[in-house]
Amino acid sequence: MVASSIVSSLDTLVLDLQATLGQAKPGSVVLTTSFSKEDQLLTWAALKSGVDVDIVSLDTGCLFPATRQTWTETEAHFGCGIRSLEPEEADVAELGALSDIYVDADARKACCAARKIRPLQKACAGKDWWLTGLRKAHSANRSGMDKVEWDAHWGLNKYHPLLDWSDTALEAAVLATEVPVNPLYNMGYASIGCAPCTRPVLPGEDVRAGRWWWEQSSKECGLHRG
Ligand code: SF4
Repeated sequence: MVASSIVSSLDTLVLDLQATLGQAKPGSVVLTTSFSKEDQLLTWAALKSGVDVDIVSLDTGCLFPATRQTWTETEAHFGCGIRSLEPEEADVAELGALSDIYVDADARKACCAARKIRPLQKACAGKDWWLTGLRKAHSANRSGMDKVEWDAHWGLNKYHPLLDWSDTALEAAVLATEVPVNPLYNMGYASIGCAPCTRPVLPGEDVRAGRWWWEQSSKECGLHRG
C-alpha cells in the first residue's frame, strides 16, 4: 500500500469516528482495548478525533507480561490513562483451578464470565456506544456483520470501524502511526488474549486458531457473539 493511500485511510478513519460518534453524549462511548494492533490504531484514531471515549482494558489477572508492558508503553505514548477493569475477588474465588478450563467447557465459560464479561458489564452500564477493533478478516463468524449494529444483549450500539480493513492496510497503518506494538506479534501470536488461552499460530492457520485452541466450537469468549 502506497503512503498516500494509507494517509487517506487514516484520515477517513478519523472522519468516520467523528461522523458516527460526534453527537454521542459525553461519557457514553467505551473502547475496550486488548492492546492488539487494531485496538492500538483505534486508540490513536479516537484520541485524534476529539470524540469523548472511555478507553478501558480488562485486567483479567491472566495477561501476558508482554501485554502489561504494552499497556504501560501505550499510556506513555499517548499520554493518557487506560482504565483497568478487574474481576471481583468473590467471583474469582468461586472459580475452580485455572487448569480446569482445559478439561471442562463450563469452567472455561465461568472463567470468562468472571474475569471478562461481568467487569465489562459494569463498564458498559450507561454507555450508548461500544467501539471495537473487530475485523472480518479475523473470523468467518464476522463475515455478515455491519460496521454499526445494535447489540440487544449488551443494550448498546457496537461500532466496528475497521471491520473491512485488510491485513495489509492494518500493518501499513500501524507503521504510519507508530503506535506501540505488543512484542507477542513477533513471537507468532496473531490474536492477543489471556496467557493460558492464547498460543502462537502456525503458518497457514486461521488468525484466531490460537485462541482456546483445545475447543473446537468456540473462538469467541462471549464479548462479541458474531
Ligand atoms: S480467556 Fe481464559 S484465562 Fe481469560 S478469562 Fe477466559 S478462560 Fe479465563
